[in-house]
Amino acid sequence: MSAAPTSSAPALPFDPTDPVALTQALVRCPSVTPEEGGALALLAAVLTAEGYDVHRPVFSEPCTPDVENLYARIGDTAPVFVIAGHTDVVPVGDAAAWTREPFGGAIENGALYGRGACDMKGGLAAMVSAAIRYRRGNPDAPGSIAFLVTGDEEGPSVNGTVKLLAWAHERGERFDHCILGEPTNPAAMSDMIKIGRRGSLTGKLTVQGTQGHVGYPHLADNPIRGMVRLLAALDATPLDGGTTHFDPSNLEVTTLDVGNPATNVIPAQAKAAFNIRFNDTWTPETLAAELERRLREAAGNQVRYTLEVQPTNAVAFLTQPGPFVAIVADAIETETGKRPALSTTGGTSDARFIKDYCPVVEYGVVGKTMHQIDECVAVADLVSLERITHRLLASYFAAQRQA
Ligand SMILES: [Zn+2]
Repeated sequence: MSAAPTSSAPALPFDPTDPVALTQALVRCPSVTPEEGGALALLAAVLTAEGYDVHRPVFSEPCTPDVENLYARIGDTAPVFVIAGHTDVVPVGDAAAWTREPFGGAIENGALYGRGACDMKGGLAAMVSAAIRYRRGNPDAPGSIAFLVTGDEEGPSVNGTVKLLAWAHERGERFDHCILGEPTNPAAMSDMIKIGRRGSLTGKLTVQGTQGHVGYPHLADNPIRGMVRLLAALDATPLDGGTTHFDPSNLEVTTLDVGNPATNVIPAQAKAAFNIRFNDTWTPETLAAELERRLREAAGNQVRYTLEVQPTNAVAFLTQPGPFVAIVADAIETETGKRPALSTTGGTSDARFIKDYCPVVEYGVVGKTMHQIDECVAVADLVSLERITHRLLASYFAAQRQA
């Protein structure tokens, strides 16, 4: 007798192995951070019907909204392959500017429209569909598949992935490898896997002067002169030349504030802020030390300044290209005909938290319209991602069987 759980068909108006229908259903849940919007409830229903053990922990923290999350697992042996993502979305923005319903999930000319269609309900839905199709076809497959889904990625990211990972770890969950379904492709499904991310460090610089009359500068000390000198010193030499998998680190001055309304007054103080996206040459500590060194040298005894380096949880990290990255790249190449680039570009993501528990790579749909008016995802890309993920799961667990 076949033990395939297809007989326990869920009471859903669609087949969850259809990534397009599942994306539509998710897009129709108005889950703007921090609202759950029905999205996690939908995933819980879908996964429970397939035999997953599903949990929906809610996390709290003073001064931030409570946020619901979801953890689901099928199988009780190692290895545990984790699929991570988020169901929350950014606000619609100017609703009148949308040409389709932001939470309608309309399909027109081969594209599925709605907030979150590409970032990242589409990617998550395609991976859920693939995991379900894989387990239905391989009910006795070795190992486990787990879903780590947060509703707090687009918000403060306090009550989301960080706490969900700790919560799971506390329960004894151990993860072997993870794929995070963020939209990594610039234009086509074969473009890009992210195998790491740069770190982010923000600094605030204050230069102290002495206020006075512009006609009597010898009685004053203009802090803008010192600030210009310090900022030039920070920017004068590149921080590094890049590394094997990373672009050079980059510093951008993001604001320069004096706020002086009078043209005949030398101001008392000048403030500036900058942000650095740094590669694996640096840790936040070594980078802060280098900044201090540059400032000290440029200031000499003339410029009175303070540098405040803000604490950061975004350090640069890399998942070394090896068998796991190769399995992902192989699956993409087999389905699309082209091998994807291994990249570490872009902003930060929840991968920076996951990497503390297991190797993580990021791959999803095409991100061209994320956070935009008329956000959409190509239906063909959803189908492609479902097939790629299915192939990835099949070869991942086959490799474990041989190992
Ligand atoms: Zn996202």
